[in-house]
Formats: sequence, C-alpha cells, structure tokens
Amino acid sequence: MAIEPGAGGEPAHYAFRAGDQRVDLNACLGRPVRLTWSGAIACTHCGRATKKSFAQGYCYPCFKKLAQCDTCIIKPETCHFFAGTCREPAWAERHCFQPHVVYLANSSGLKVGITRGTQVPTRWLDQGAIQALPILEVATRQQSGFVEMLFKEEVADRTNWRAMLKGEVEPLDLVAERDRLLARLDSGLAALRERFGDEAIRVLEAAPVALDYPVLEFPRKIVSHNFDKRPVVEGTLMGLKGQYLILDSGVINLRKFTGYEVTLEAA
Ligand SMILES: [Zn+2]
Repeated sequence: MAIEPGAGGEPAHYAFRAGDQRVDLNACLGRPVRLTWSGAIACTHCGRATKKSFAQGYCYPCFKKLAQCDTCIIKPETCHFFAGTCREPAWAERHCFQPHVVYLANSSGLKVGITRGTQVPTRWLDQGAIQALPILEVATRQQSGFVEMLFKEEVADRTNWRAMLKGEVEPLDLVAERDRLLARLDSGLAALRERFGDEAIRVLEAAPVALDYPVLEFPRKIVSHNFDKRPVVEGTLMGLKGQYLILDSGVINLRKFTGYEVTLEAA
C-alpha cells in the first residue's frame, strides 16, 4: 500500500499496489471491498516463495542474512558496525551512516521516533500520526538510537494502535512539548555531543506538520482481520489510517502481510 500526503489540506492518499494491480482506495470509501489472499507469499527482497513471512515480508534466509533484518535496525543504539560484525557493511554505509531525524509525533498521544532524513513524512503516515514535528538531526542511525533512548525516559516510543484507529487522539502543542523536552534532557544531549561532536546533534527549526486521513467513521470496537486465519476479508471500506484498512467488519494491517499475494476487488 502506498500512502502519500494530501495536497493542500486534503486527507492522505492511499493506493493499493500488488503485482500489476493498482487501486485508488480513497475512491473506494463507502463501498464494499473484498481482499483475497491466494495462499502465496513472496519474499520482498529476493522474490522467492516462502511458506511463512519473517519480519513482515522476508523469507528465512534473507531474514537471517540481511543487515536490514538485524535487531540493530529496531534498536539502533546496539549498532555493532565498529565491532566488525555488521552483516552488510556496504549497505550500512548507505543506510545507517546517513543523517537521521528524531521527531515527535502524535499518533495515540505523544511519542518519539527516528527516521532517515528522506523518509519524512511517509513514516508519520505509516503510523497514523495526526501531527509530527522533526526536532533533531543526527549524523548516523546509531546516534539517533542514543538520542531516542534519552527521550524514552520522558516519552513513549510506541503507538497504541487501537486508540489510533478509534480516532481517540487529542491534538497536542508539539512545539511546547519539544521545548519542554529539550530543556529537560539538556544534560543528556550535552553528554552525547561531547561524545560525538557538537555538529553531530543539531536542533532543527521545523514547523509542525498536520496529517489527515480519509475516514468516514471510526470503529467503536476494534476487531482484526488476519489472512492467516481467513484468506478472504470483506466489508464496506469505512476509512484508511496508518497501514490499516478500516472496514465495517473489522480492521486489517496491510503492513503485517507484506509479501502476501493479495488481490482487491471493489464493488
Ligand atoms: Zn528472500
């Protein structure tokens, strides 16, 4: 599924993409849709057929071999490049030794997150955030992990996806939150600058971003569909938020089924 920010205050735009199929999901709102999984899963990296998907879309050999599937991607502060044990040093040079952005977002309340400089605002849309604010730019992925660890003393780093999908999210003053957190974590940030250099961790002067989603009606109760349990998912499309399709019959997280061969029919 591809999500793009809406132009000029419009809600985000969602497109379903699988094989040759491309469906404008915003245009399907309020209409019955049916998603069918054929039973096949193809690894998103090498394309080989796999019985089970690992780390949301990889075959087992890729899951064990690729740097992008290593635990240090989820926990960047555990980067082991300098120990000489990186799974793919050349890949790391291109992806980890690049500027990363530390941001505050409001997906189900205040949270902190990190992303590659180039992946803003895709990352926020993926998480269903209604507001986001980049606060710091750091020189590498590992450093972004250290900064995130520091912020986690004060702020959550996860989204309560049920609250996010129910639309029960109050707007926040992210600029005030940023100023409060930067002041509170000042000595921790100073220690990181001492270690990595003054230039390594820069405060950004960005403006907060508001994000809107195409939702006709939020669900009151969350029921999840799962292709592994039932390969056909049907219902009227009531909304799109984060990586979720909200149907009147339940919600489905399409990110979780990356690599699954799924077709979509809209009535
Ligand atoms: Zn593979």
